[in-house]
Amino acid sequence: MKVALIGIGQAGGKVTERLTRFDANMGFEAVQGALALNSAKPDLQSIEFVDTQLIGADRVNGHGVGGDNELGSEIMQSDVQEVLGALDGRITSRSDAIVVVAGLGGGTGSGGAPVLVHNLQQVYDVPVYALGILPGRNEGALYQANAGRSLKTLLREADSTLLIDNDAWHEQGESVEDAFETINDKIAQRVGLLFASGEIIDGVGESVVDSSEIINTLRSGGVSVLGYASEVASEDSSENIRTVMTVARQALLTGASMPDATAADSALLVIAGQPDRIPRKGVEKARRWLEDETESMQVRGGDFPLESERLGALVLLGGAERSERISAFMDRAREANKTQQSEATDTIDDLTDDRLENLF
Ligand code: GDP
Repeated sequence: MKVALIGIGQAGGKVTERLTRFDANMGFEAVQGALALNSAKPDLQSIEFVDTQLIGADRVNGHGVGGDNELGSEIMQSDVQEVLGALDGRITSRSDAIVVVAGLGGGTGSGGAPVLVHNLQQVYDVPVYALGILPGRNEGALYQANAGRSLKTLLREADSTLLIDNDAWHEQGESVEDAFETINDKIAQRVGLLFASGEIIDGVGESVVDSSEIINTLRSGGVSVLGYASEVASEDSSENIRTVMTVARQALLTGASMPDATAADSALLVIAGQPDRIPRKGVEKARRWLEDETESMQVRGGDFPLESERLGALVLLGGAERSERISAFMDRAREANKTQQSEATDTIDDLTDDRLENLF
């Protein structure tokens, strides 16, 4: 699947850069164009591998918006024509989709992403997806409240919002900075593999995935979730039936970007590895298992030929918002929003109003 990537804010820019670099290093050529946007100049200066553009200079003079995501939205709205201009040529007739990447808990990305998605939807015919990073449980109330409002608005605007929970893909005992590095690498590898799996690869693999299968899996909108797991495989495909089942199970149950999400409207199972090591029987079995587990009749599947000693399973869920983890996050965001508002004002109306408002 050929994509144009737009990263907004610090996390959005870093993840976009990592994804673009991974795609280039692997020679996949699924990422056709990329741009990183930020209202904070120092954050853009650390980005080397993709082009950057400063936004909101007339309002915040390159100093960023702090954690003010309403200001983040306003800045994007004021500068949207320039941003669309800069995207000209990066989004081409060959692009199958546009992906807007942002950390939802901050200011520039949190506020800017929904506005940009909205505007891109007016201009382009291809699906516009969001890749949103949710704050971990231990991040402060402002992050939770910001992410709640940003997610709510993204769900309204984007064709699908792929969620990465910052608590999902880090290793135990890492510092916050190291954890971000690990998570960003995992996002790059997994999302990078997903984009690349929708590319036609000459003459190998019995049933390769087409970009339309990714798009159809995401067609139901709402939240999407990506899971991955891999294991060393035997050279003899008949010995790998159990391996395929194991990696498919792990991808969904322990390797998902949004833990505990299993119920979904649709799913895609991609088995990556050397074609002669992939057992058809195992793939069929894993697919049936995924149908049962997600309670979805729409489970697509395919192979991704890759030179590796391992077999990997990539599971994409579409329409996966009916998850306890997401309801728990929304409760946390509403609660945090209430706290934020009661700190700002103390009228009874503000204290009792626990709704999360859309950003625009
Ligand atoms: P912005 O620059 O104002 O858009 O704000 P940030 O991008 O710093 O967004 C803050 C949110 O993103 C917080 O929830 C952070 O936990 C998260 N975040 C910041 N940097 C990274 C990163 O490099 N990787 C990941 N996974 N999350 C990040």
